[in-house]
Amino acid sequence: MQIPIIYLKPGKEQSLKRFHPWVFSGAVKNVRGNLEEGDLVAVHDAHDNFLAYGHYQIGSIAVRVITFRDEVIDDNFWSRKIEAAWNLRKIAGLAGSSHTNAFRLVHGEGDGLPGLIVDMYDTTAVVQMHTVAMYRLRETLVKAMRSVLGEALTAVYEKSEGTLPFKADVDPQNGFIWGRSSTRIALENGLKFNVDWEKGQKTGFFVDQRDNRALLERYSKGRSVLNMFCYTGGFSFYAMRGGASMVHSVDSSERAVQLTNENVELNFPGDNRHEAFAMDAFRFMESSKHKYDLMVLDPPAFAKHMNVVKNALQGYKRLNSKALEQIAPGGILFTFSCSQVVSRDAFRTTVFSAAARSGRNVKILHQLEQPADHPVSIYHPEGEYLKGLVLFVE
Ligand code: SAH
Repeated sequence: MQIPIIYLKPGKEQSLKRFHPWVFSGAVKNVRGNLEEGDLVAVHDAHDNFLAYGHYQIGSIAVRVITFRDEVIDDNFWSRKIEAAWNLRKIAGLAGSSHTNAFRLVHGEGDGLPGLIVDMYDTTAVVQMHTVAMYRLRETLVKAMRSVLGEALTAVYEKSEGTLPFKADVDPQNGFIWGRSSTRIALENGLKFNVDWEKGQKTGFFVDQRDNRALLERYSKGRSVLNMFCYTGGFSFYAMRGGASMVHSVDSSERAVQLTNENVELNFPGDNRHEAFAMDAFRFMESSKHKYDLMVLDPPAFAKHMNVVKNALQGYKRLNSKALEQIAPGGILFTFSCSQVVSRDAFRTTVFSAAARSGRNVKILHQLEQPADHPVSIYHPEGEYLKGLVLFVE
């Protein structure tokens, strides 16, 4: 079968030569062959030199590169990709660990697999496809995962209903595409939690905060803790294990509060140091009289697009101002942004202005980021999204 070819306009090959994995539609001169959304395509420069193979998509990103080598794209190709991702998780101490079995196995471009997210919960893989090409490849990918993971995989749940391009002519249905899961309980640093991949946000749990939660545990002893935007309560049960005197978890979603309570009960049955509230963040902080010694702010992405960054920064400023105003003297604030379009610098500057507004002496103790199972290709800085600061507030 002839692979269609996209020819770039002269000079537009530069970013691909620096291994950036996207071809924007404006860089395309013409196409040879029939091309439909989700097709494999070769990318050539204006002089007909091969540059890359990728997946074609209708939209501002026309091609997402899967390889810069002129190689055969067959089942073995995909197996090698999955194997590389699995090996990296072994190197990072995650695959095969006895105390953590929840981690990201595939992080899109960071693993050379644009459009694909795979999170592991014990032996269940929850996959999310963001491109039609990856969606069409799902059986090949399942085969590849089965051959690479062996007994470490018993089920694959697909959850692409909400993630495929809106206009794509496919009709994904969430559900198991291979096997069945015998358990929904996964482990993170020895703590247990229930994962609701069916109804939960994203793949059911936020695995990206694992290292940051472990850091929080170290600061928790004897402190009263507010875990704002708790979702399934991750930070809360680390704080409890770390010896917090009291933990309050807050989320506007009733379901999230229920999940948090279940997870706390799973790890610390009958422990009355914890209480969860289904309430809006600002309303809670306005009405609460307690001065917490340790606060976590991990809001949802305030900005999903460049054109709303300014509003998002205002949101982060308001939120952090409120926390810095209320936190107890000698308090510790863990504050995060998971908006990809909000840069590390912009976030830091925003928290800086919130600190200045509070008039308190604030020190940065740690600058946080996403963990090793969410790798960022050095050629694709857009893959970096999670940033956080740990502040000491005098
Ligand atoms: N910290 C969590 C992840 C947070 S995800 C963890 O470690 O897993 C963001 C959460 O913010 C979601 O659960 C969402 O329900 C909640 N949320 C969104 N808007 C909110 C608001 N205005 N007030 C309180 N919670 C909110």
